[in-house]
Amino acid sequence: MDNGRDYYQVSMDMRITKISENIQRLTANNGGVFTGPGTNTYLVGNDELSIIDPGPDLSDHIDDILEIGRGRITKILITHTHQDHSPGAKSLSKKLSIPIYGCITESSRSRDLPIEIDHMVEHRSIIVSGDHEIMSVHTPGHASNHFCYLYNGYLFTGDHIMQGSTVVIAPPDGNMSDYLDSLKLIKEFDVKTILPGHGDPIDEPYEEIDAIIRHRLKREKKVIDRLKESHPIDIDSLVPRVYDDVNSLLHPIARFSLEAHLIRLIENNLATFDGQKYSLVE
Ligand SMILES: [Zn+2]
Repeated sequence: MDNGRDYYQVSMDMRITKISENIQRLTANNGGVFTGPGTNTYLVGNDELSIIDPGPDLSDHIDDILEIGRGRITKILITHTHQDHSPGAKSLSKKLSIPIYGCITESSRSRDLPIEIDHMVEHRSIIVSGDHEIMSVHTPGHASNHFCYLYNGYLFTGDHIMQGSTVVIAPPDGNMSDYLDSLKLIKEFDVKTILPGHGDPIDEPYEEIDAIIRHRLKREKKVIDRLKESHPIDIDSLVPRVYDDVNSLLHPIARFSLEAHLIRLIENNLATFDGQKYSLVE
């Protein structure tokens, strides 16, 4: 027992955790730099189950979902259409003839793997199943079509908030200003625990959100300081200067978020871009 939760492993291949009476978590075997311990798939409900983020289309993972939810799975919800969160939805939907809930935007459609959404969710859509109701919360930033889902004080955050790692904001579908706004938005809801798409539950949601916002604004301040020292400068020269506290192996990933910061500075008339180099507006 840890914080009232039972952690158990059914087998080496089935990594399942009971979060509450009505929530189970199954972690896909796709751990890595972007995915931490692997993508979390959540099974919500009792008599009827909603699956939040079936994850990648790995046959073992899909078989495990089917085995745990045998005869009870009625809906699939996806937070966004990145390849580690949604491709499993296709197989699961086909096998069980059940609908997929989620969102597609023009921008996500042109970048992500194709997927058919049966029910487009909007901000504050209520998705009703036999013994539970889930509300969708639109949280663009990591991806334009990103939604979190709220059930009984638990917020399923997909890639909006991860545990143990920083979310990548990759323009143009990712947007730093939207991301910061979507973090603040979460504070309007009654959340007791965050259940992220990667990593473990977060029991102090508002403190975590404040810490993420502080971290992003601190990084933004560093971008401004480094620009001040050496502008005009191209993005590849700026990456090691802004992320000198981050392992250089991660710099290619950090470059995405740096671009998102620079776009936000331009939006706020604090920087300019001539097509090659960025300058600070002084
Ligand atoms: Zn993602």
